[in-house]
Amino acid sequence: MKKSAGFWKRKINVLAAVLLGLSVISCSTVAFTGRNRLLLYSDTDIFSLSDQSYSQLMAASVRSSDTKCTVTVTEVGRRMTSALQAYLTATGQSDVLNGITWSFDLVKNSQANAFCLPNGRVVFYEGIMPVLDTPDLVAVVMGHEMGHVIARHGNERMSRQALVSLVGAVAGQAVGQKTSQNVQALFEAAFSIGSEYGYLLPYSRKHEYEADEIGLYLMAIAGYDISQATTLWTRMSQATAQSVPEYLSTHPSDANRIRHLEKLQDKARSLIAR
Ligand SMILES: [Zn+2]
Repeated sequence: MKKSAGFWKRKINVLAAVLLGLSVISCSTVAFTGRNRLLLYSDTDIFSLSDQSYSQLMAASVRSSDTKCTVTVTEVGRRMTSALQAYLTATGQSDVLNGITWSFDLVKNSQANAFCLPNGRVVFYEGIMPVLDTPDLVAVVMGHEMGHVIARHGNERMSRQALVSLVGAVAGQAVGQKTSQNVQALFEAAFSIGSEYGYLLPYSRKHEYEADEIGLYLMAIAGYDISQATTLWTRMSQATAQSVPEYLSTHPSDANRIRHLEKLQDKARSLIAR
């Protein structure tokens, strides 16, 4: 059935109203991979919500008393973030880190998990440390989590969700409620504290691959053994059904993912020579 001019006019008005309501609309590229992405929110908004989540999370958590593992996580994090800072400064891209405050915590929790909030707060659970028994293996997970942060995957996921909601609202002609969906609601949906996944919902496969790629480059520029990335994911994918680490449930590992990392080894090595 042909839609009337009024229908399309209403649709365009709704679109304009929603876009104007969003704090920032920017097309930009992801550091290291150059992929184009659309971000609808400002770092300021997302980072301040991340700060709140981090405070709540740490208030409800107990830091690990395992000094050796705590030192390893902290040292790997510091080495990788300072190498990243130096690299971005040398290549004129230091604005990628604007507003990010890195921190590295190891908390008491038997789940084999690790995650990072969009503002750079990286949290490892004690339960993942037996799998990460060398600093190089810690660096694989650290680099991957840092990759999600510097690529602004959280913002991109929220932006995408906002657009999906918009399409639903327009299609249903029931706009009032949906357009009031604000940044806080989207943040909570994307980073639902206390969800079955721990603290972050799984990213899309595209984001997982990209975090793997950036993570590998970060390992390279910080001088870690990049061959350990495939070692880790192979080890994870070989875990038996009874003992599948939680990290694997949000980071599905498969042969394609491992092949993807193998293909990137040469490019990662070229960064070491810089
Ligand atoms: Zn991930």
